Amino acid sequence: MADPLNIVWHRPLPDGAEPSTVTVSQDSADRWFVSLLVEEAIAPLPDTGTAVGIDAGLTHLVTLSSGERVANPRHERADRRRLAKAQKDLSRKVKGSANRDKARARVARIHARIADRRRDHLHKLSTRLVRENQTLAIEDLTVRNMFGNHCLARAISDASWSQLRSMLEYKSGWYGRELLLVDRWFPSSKLCSAPGCSHMNDAMPLNVRSWACPRCGTVHDRDVNAAKNILAAGLADR
Ligand SMILES: [Zn+2]
Repeated sequence: MADPLNIVWHRPLPDGAEPSTVTVSQDSADRWFVSLLVEEAIAPLPDTGTAVGIDAGLTHLVTLSSGERVANPRHERADRRRLAKAQKDLSRKVKGSANRDKARARVARIHARIADRRRDHLHKLSTRLVRENQTLAIEDLTVRNMFGNHCLARAISDASWSQLRSMLEYKSGWYGRELLLVDRWFPSSKLCSAPGCSHMNDAMPLNVRSWACPRCGTVHDRDVNAAKNILAAGLADR
Protein backbone atom coordinates (compact mmCIF):
# COMPACT_ATOMS: atom_id res chain seq x y z
CA MET A 1 0.00 0.00 0.00
CA ALA A 2 1.13 3.54 -0.71
CA ASP A 3 -0.08 5.01 2.59
CA PRO A 4 1.33 4.01 5.98
CA LEU A 5 -0.87 1.41 7.72
CA ASN A 6 -2.52 2.16 11.02
CA ILE A 7 -0.73 -0.45 13.17
CA VAL A 8 -1.32 -1.20 16.85
CA TRP A 9 1.70 -2.89 18.44
CA HIS A 10 0.95 -5.64 20.92
CA ARG A 11 4.40 -5.23 22.51
CA PRO A 12 7.70 -3.75 21.38
CA LEU A 13 10.20 -6.03 19.65
CA PRO A 14 12.99 -7.23 21.98
CA ASP A 15 16.19 -5.16 21.70
CA GLY A 16 18.23 -6.03 18.66
CA ALA A 17 15.74 -8.65 17.46
CA GLU A 18 15.65 -9.33 13.72
CA PRO A 19 12.36 -10.93 12.62
CA SER A 20 13.04 -14.10 10.65
CA THR A 21 9.46 -14.71 9.50
CA VAL A 22 6.54 -12.34 9.01
CA THR A 23 3.05 -13.81 8.82
CA VAL A 24 0.03 -11.80 7.70
CA SER A 25 -3.43 -13.10 8.53
CA GLN A 26 -7.04 -11.98 8.63
CA ASP A 27 -9.65 -13.25 11.08
CA SER A 28 -13.36 -13.81 10.55
CA ALA A 29 -14.09 -10.35 12.00
CA ASP A 30 -12.08 -8.83 9.10
CA ARG A 31 -9.15 -7.78 11.26
CA TRP A 32 -5.61 -8.04 9.92
CA PHE A 33 -2.68 -9.36 11.96
CA VAL A 34 1.05 -9.29 11.34
CA SER A 35 3.10 -11.76 13.40
CA LEU A 36 6.86 -11.40 13.65
CA LEU A 37 8.95 -14.42 14.60
CA VAL A 38 12.07 -13.45 16.57
CA GLU A 39 14.71 -15.28 18.59
CA GLU A 40 14.88 -14.17 22.20
CA ALA A 41 17.01 -15.41 25.10
CA ILE A 42 14.74 -16.04 28.10
CA ALA A 43 16.38 -16.69 31.45
CA PRO A 44 14.83 -19.29 33.80
CA LEU A 45 13.18 -17.82 36.91
CA PRO A 46 14.62 -18.57 40.38
CA ASP A 47 13.19 -21.70 42.03
CA THR A 48 10.24 -20.74 44.25
CA GLY A 49 9.99 -24.20 45.82
CA THR A 50 6.18 -24.07 45.58
CA ALA A 51 3.77 -26.42 43.81
CA VAL A 52 0.17 -25.95 42.71
CA GLY A 53 -2.63 -28.21 41.46
CA ILE A 54 -4.99 -26.67 38.90
CA ASP A 55 -8.57 -27.86 38.36
CA ALA A 56 -10.44 -26.72 35.24
CA GLY A 57 -14.06 -25.77 35.77
CA LEU A 58 -17.15 -24.44 34.09
CA THR A 59 -18.45 -21.93 36.63
CA HIS A 60 -14.91 -20.84 37.46
CA LEU A 61 -12.10 -20.88 34.93
CA VAL A 62 -9.80 -22.72 37.33
CA THR A 63 -9.60 -23.59 41.02
CA LEU A 64 -6.18 -23.94 42.66
CA SER A 65 -5.08 -26.41 45.35
CA SER A 66 -4.36 -23.33 47.52
CA GLY A 67 -8.13 -22.72 47.61
CA GLU A 68 -8.02 -19.76 45.22
CA ARG A 69 -10.63 -19.56 42.50
CA VAL A 70 -10.00 -17.74 39.27
CA ALA A 71 -13.15 -16.40 37.62
CA ASN A 72 -13.90 -16.33 33.92
CA PRO A 73 -13.18 -13.02 32.18
CA ARG A 74 -15.48 -10.17 33.05
CA HIS A 75 -18.33 -9.47 30.62
CA GLU A 76 -18.07 -12.94 29.17
CA ARG A 77 -21.53 -13.96 30.24
CA ALA A 78 -23.04 -10.84 28.67
CA ASP A 79 -20.98 -11.39 25.51
CA ARG A 80 -22.15 -14.97 25.32
CA ARG A 81 -25.78 -13.86 25.56
CA ARG A 82 -25.13 -11.32 22.80
CA LEU A 83 -23.50 -14.03 20.72
CA ALA A 84 -26.46 -16.38 21.12
CA LYS A 85 -28.83 -13.60 20.07
CA ALA A 86 -26.68 -12.62 17.08
CA GLN A 87 -26.51 -16.26 15.96
CA LYS A 88 -30.27 -16.51 16.18
CA ASP A 89 -30.65 -13.31 14.14
CA LEU A 90 -28.26 -14.68 11.54
CA SER A 91 -30.20 -17.92 11.22
CA ARG A 92 -33.33 -15.95 10.33
CA LYS A 93 -31.78 -13.92 7.53
CA VAL A 94 -32.40 -14.85 3.89
CA LYS A 95 -29.43 -16.58 2.28
CA GLY A 96 -27.42 -14.34 -0.04
CA SER A 97 -28.99 -11.13 1.31
CA ALA A 98 -27.06 -8.06 2.42
CA ASN A 99 -28.69 -8.33 5.83
CA ARG A 100 -27.32 -11.82 6.18
CA ASP A 101 -23.79 -10.55 5.52
CA LYS A 102 -24.27 -7.87 8.16
CA ALA A 103 -25.57 -10.43 10.65
CA ARG A 104 -22.65 -12.72 9.92
CA ALA A 105 -20.17 -9.90 10.49
CA ARG A 106 -21.83 -9.14 13.81
CA VAL A 107 -21.50 -12.78 14.95
CA ALA A 108 -17.83 -12.76 13.92
CA ARG A 109 -17.15 -9.52 15.84
CA ILE A 110 -18.69 -10.87 19.05
CA HIS A 111 -16.78 -14.15 18.64
CA ALA A 112 -13.55 -12.18 18.19
CA ARG A 113 -14.25 -10.06 21.28
CA ILE A 114 -14.86 -13.14 23.44
CA ALA A 115 -11.69 -14.80 22.11
CA ASP A 116 -9.60 -11.64 22.67
CA ARG A 117 -10.73 -11.20 26.26
CA ARG A 118 -10.17 -14.90 26.94
CA ARG A 119 -6.69 -14.92 25.49
CA ASP A 120 -5.71 -11.83 27.44
CA HIS A 121 -7.10 -13.33 30.66
CA LEU A 122 -5.35 -16.67 30.02
CA HIS A 123 -2.01 -14.99 29.31
CA LYS A 124 -2.16 -13.07 32.60
CA LEU A 125 -3.21 -16.19 34.53
CA SER A 126 -0.62 -18.54 32.97
CA THR A 127 2.20 -16.03 33.47
CA ARG A 128 1.25 -15.56 37.11
CA LEU A 129 0.95 -19.32 37.80
CA VAL A 130 4.32 -20.02 36.18
CA ARG A 131 6.00 -17.11 37.99
CA GLU A 132 4.66 -18.11 41.39
CA ASN A 133 5.21 -21.88 41.22
CA GLN A 134 8.11 -24.21 40.53
CA THR A 135 5.81 -27.20 39.92
CA LEU A 136 2.36 -27.11 38.29
CA ALA A 137 0.00 -30.11 38.03
CA ILE A 138 -2.91 -30.17 35.60
CA GLU A 139 -5.33 -32.75 34.23
CA ASP A 140 -4.60 -34.07 30.77
CA LEU A 141 -7.96 -33.10 29.30
CA THR A 142 -7.12 -32.98 25.61
CA VAL A 143 -9.69 -35.60 24.69
CA ARG A 144 -12.62 -34.00 26.47
CA ASN A 145 -13.70 -32.31 23.25
CA MET A 146 -14.42 -35.72 21.79
CA PHE A 147 -17.47 -36.05 23.98
CA GLY A 148 -19.28 -33.28 22.18
CA ASN A 149 -19.96 -29.67 22.95
CA HIS A 150 -23.67 -29.33 23.38
CA CYS A 151 -23.62 -26.00 25.09
CA LEU A 152 -21.73 -22.84 24.28
CA ALA A 153 -20.37 -22.44 27.81
CA ARG A 154 -18.82 -25.91 27.66
CA ALA A 155 -17.38 -25.33 24.20
CA ILE A 156 -15.76 -22.05 25.30
CA SER A 157 -14.53 -23.61 28.52
CA ASP A 158 -12.94 -26.54 26.64
CA ALA A 159 -11.32 -24.22 24.13
CA SER A 160 -9.90 -21.98 26.83
CA TRP A 161 -8.64 -24.94 28.82
CA SER A 162 -6.61 -26.25 25.89
CA GLN A 163 -5.32 -22.72 25.28
CA LEU A 164 -4.35 -22.34 28.95
CA ARG A 165 -2.65 -25.72 28.91
CA SER A 166 -0.58 -24.83 25.88
CA MET A 167 0.44 -21.50 27.47
CA LEU A 168 1.42 -23.31 30.70
CA GLU A 169 3.46 -25.80 28.65
CA TYR A 170 5.53 -23.31 26.70
CA LYS A 171 5.88 -20.80 29.55
CA SER A 172 7.02 -23.59 31.92
CA GLY A 173 9.62 -24.47 29.29
CA TRP A 174 10.78 -20.85 29.01
CA TYR A 175 11.11 -20.26 32.74
CA GLY A 176 12.46 -23.65 33.88
CA ARG A 177 9.28 -24.85 35.61
CA GLU A 178 7.99 -28.41 35.92
CA LEU A 179 4.54 -29.16 34.45
CA LEU A 180 2.98 -32.45 35.57
CA LEU A 181 0.12 -34.01 33.57
CA VAL A 182 -2.36 -36.16 35.45
CA ASP A 183 -4.35 -38.84 33.59
CA ARG A 184 -7.82 -37.56 32.79
CA TRP A 185 -9.39 -40.74 34.18
CA PHE A 186 -7.92 -40.07 37.61
CA PRO A 187 -10.98 -39.64 39.93
CA SER A 188 -9.90 -36.23 41.26
CA SER A 189 -13.44 -35.24 42.31
CA LYS A 190 -14.43 -38.46 44.05
CA LEU A 191 -11.37 -38.96 46.22
CA CYS A 192 -10.98 -37.43 49.71
CA SER A 193 -7.80 -35.33 49.69
CA ALA A 194 -7.38 -35.23 53.50
CA PRO A 195 -3.92 -36.57 54.47
CA GLY A 196 -4.03 -40.30 55.20
CA CYS A 197 -7.72 -40.75 54.33
CA SER A 198 -8.12 -41.43 50.59
CA HIS A 199 -11.77 -42.42 50.91
CA MET A 200 -13.31 -42.90 47.47
CA ASN A 201 -16.91 -41.84 46.86
CA ASP A 202 -18.93 -43.96 44.43
CA ALA A 203 -20.25 -40.94 42.58
CA MET A 204 -19.89 -37.18 42.67
CA PRO A 205 -22.66 -35.54 40.62
CA LEU A 206 -21.81 -32.14 39.11
CA ASN A 207 -24.36 -30.33 41.28
CA VAL A 208 -22.57 -31.33 44.52
CA ARG A 209 -20.45 -28.26 45.30
CA SER A 210 -19.28 -29.38 48.74
CA TRP A 211 -19.37 -32.60 50.72
CA ALA A 212 -18.29 -34.15 54.03
CA CYS A 213 -16.08 -37.23 53.90
CA PRO A 214 -17.92 -40.20 55.49
CA ARG A 215 -14.60 -41.63 56.68
CA CYS A 216 -12.62 -38.72 58.14
CA GLY A 217 -15.32 -36.05 58.38
CA THR A 218 -13.42 -33.38 56.45
CA VAL A 219 -15.73 -30.97 54.66
CA HIS A 220 -14.51 -30.37 51.12
CA ASP A 221 -15.18 -27.78 48.48
CA ARG A 222 -15.59 -29.92 45.37
CA ASP A 223 -13.12 -28.02 43.15
CA VAL A 224 -10.47 -27.31 45.80
CA ASN A 225 -10.51 -31.01 46.73
CA ALA A 226 -10.06 -31.96 43.05
CA ALA A 227 -7.16 -29.51 42.65
CA LYS A 228 -5.44 -30.94 45.76
CA ASN A 229 -5.81 -34.47 44.38
CA ILE A 230 -4.42 -33.40 41.00
CA LEU A 231 -1.36 -31.96 42.72
CA ALA A 232 -0.85 -35.08 44.87
CA ALA A 233 -1.27 -37.41 41.89
CA GLY A 234 1.13 -35.35 39.77
CA LEU A 235 3.78 -35.37 42.50
CA ALA A 236 3.31 -39.13 43.12
CA ASP A 237 3.72 -40.03 39.41
CA ARG A 238 6.89 -38.15 38.63
ZN1 LIG B 1 -11.64 -38.35 54.15
